[in-house]
Amino acid sequence: MATTTAVPDLDPRTGAPPRRAGGDLLEGDRPLRDALVREGAGELLAEVHAAGRTFAAGDAIDDGTIANVATPQIVGPAEVRFDPAFHAIMRRAVEHGITGVPWADERPGAHVARAAKFMLLAQVEAGSTCPMAMTYSCVPALRLSDAVAAEWEPRVSSGVYDPRELPAEAKDGALIGMALTEAAGGSDLAGLTTVGRPLGGDAYAVSGVKWFVSAIQSDAFFVLAKTETGISCLLVPRLRDDGTPNGFEITALKDKLGNRSNPTAEVTLTDAHGRLVGEEGRGVAAIMAMIGGTRTDCVLGSTAVMRLGTAEAIHHGDHRHAFGRALSEQPVMTAVLADLALETEAAVAAALWLVRLAERSRAGDEGAELVRRIAAPALKYWICKRAPIHAAEAIECQGGFGYMEDSRLARCYREAPLMSIWEGSGNVQTLDVLRAVQRTPAVLEALLAELDAAAGGDRRLDARTAELRALVADPQRLAADPRGLAARIALALQAAVLVRGAPFEVADAFCASRLADGPPAVFGALPASVDAAAVVARHRPQDG
Ligand SMILES: Cc1cc2nc3c(=O)[nH]c(=O)nc-3n(C[C@H](O)[C@H](O)[C@H](O)COP(=O)(O)OP(=O)(O)OC[C@H]3O[C@@H](n4cnc5c(N)ncnc54)[C@H](O)[C@@H]3O)c2cc1C
Repeated sequence: MATTTAVPDLDPRTGAPPRRAGGDLLEGDRPLRDALVREGAGELLAEVHAAGRTFAAGDAIDDGTIANVATPQIVGPAEVRFDPAFHAIMRRAVEHGITGVPWADERPGAHVARAAKFMLLAQVEAGSTCPMAMTYSCVPALRLSDAVAAEWEPRVSSGVYDPRELPAEAKDGALIGMALTEAAGGSDLAGLTTVGRPLGGDAYAVSGVKWFVSAIQSDAFFVLAKTETGISCLLVPRLRDDGTPNGFEITALKDKLGNRSNPTAEVTLTDAHGRLVGEEGRGVAAIMAMIGGTRTDCVLGSTAVMRLGTAEAIHHGDHRHAFGRALSEQPVMTAVLADLALETEAAVAAALWLVRLAERSRAGDEGAELVRRIAAPALKYWICKRAPIHAAEAIECQGGFGYMEDSRLARCYREAPLMSIWEGSGNVQTLDVLRAVQRTPAVLEALLAELDAAAGGDRRLDARTAELRALVADPQRLAADPRGLAARIALALQAAVLVRGAPFEVADAFCASRLADGPPAVFGALPASVDAAAVVARHRPQDG
């Protein structure tokens, strides 16, 4: 709705604006459409629009609400039961190809299009994105073992949602999870106590206690266990071929801050049969083949938090009037909305660029792989760190209503910190950045070459590139502030992507507000040169 025609049409009881429902989430999201085209998925827009229509629908939004209230329950040693609303969400997501489908799709841009669909789903229901992320990301790990891949890859890439409690071989589609973390530690896996006893060939009997196992309904889990030669990665089905539990006992479901539709379990494994993936004793390297994908999906999830926050904040501001005009037209509020929008656009642009970079790396582009090694942890660190404060500001834009459960942002706020914890928390990402730089100097050279491709587009970006170039020559300064280094790299990459492809007013405003003096502590303190109304107009949701 355009601000010029805004009317005070809030619900008199709750203060809620008319619900955004119906239409097409992609149609109403210009920055995402532009990023899809820029990153090579222009030919696949029709299928992302189809997902956009599905996830904009009122029943999808309602199912998301219900699934987070009527939460899953344990109903058997290895079984949980869900409200039908959660199954409806999962079915839509799988059928739109958000699990392993792109791995069986040769079309360029298939992974980028899937990333956009993931972000659309995450705006409606975030708990379901956890099994989506793991079932999508598992494929490179499955492929470390030909026999395991031959059996499981068709199931995870079938595009069929099959929640029946049957052994995987009897099903038309499967979900995959991972069970790495133990009570003693998640970041540092050296101390894990789960063991794998060899049974001959690639088979092992796995016993131990896993402390966080999400999407516990999955058909199989990658489990890290100690075997004779070190930590190994084993694929452990939840059910045996006869349909009985495979040494699996769900002892509790976690009582979580958010993400409540997604059952995260404590699990005891007793002689659960599993098969080796990758080399024995090289389990951490094997699971990293999967974690590369799930980390990127955390970036996508955080980006979705920002898009939902920006869209809902603008929508609310268009409908609520204070002191004589729409809130979105009050200059101080316009600046806040524009700043939230800038953060969102930079995240969207960088997230899809990162997915494309991974596509190029898989296709054998060594330069892309070098850049990815530093860009992935830097962007995971920074974008996931920005989401919680973005969500808090978006809620405040809605005033008291934002703090109510009726607002879609209350649940979004609880989701926001999780992406920063999952798949390597903030410090772990910054240490990854440092390690990449210190171990492989070519990584920094590749990063600088990537930034140089945007040279001349913005003087503040040029200055940031020069600053990073000077750091390369000073290893002591480089290591002195890992968080600062990761943030600087992430901001430079976001700026470079925007300078190369986004409208001038967006790229210019981003560089002016994020690169000149570092990111401001709060949203809304934009330089006077920024055309805040134009930025808000670009991000105004028109999907319902
Ligand atoms: C809702 C939810 C679902 C989850 N689902 C799963 C799942 O399905 N499967 C699974 O295996 N795990 C799962 N996890 C576990 C998650 O991956 C871990 O919580 C995460 O990896 C952090 O590990 P930790 O909790 O042991 O914290 P720790 O490893 O103890 O880390 C605590 C803090 O210390 C920091 N830190 C760690 N090492 C260093 C260092 N060297 N220097 C400085 N700081 C450091 C970390 O960044 C973090 O901030 C889930 C967690 C949550 C909250």
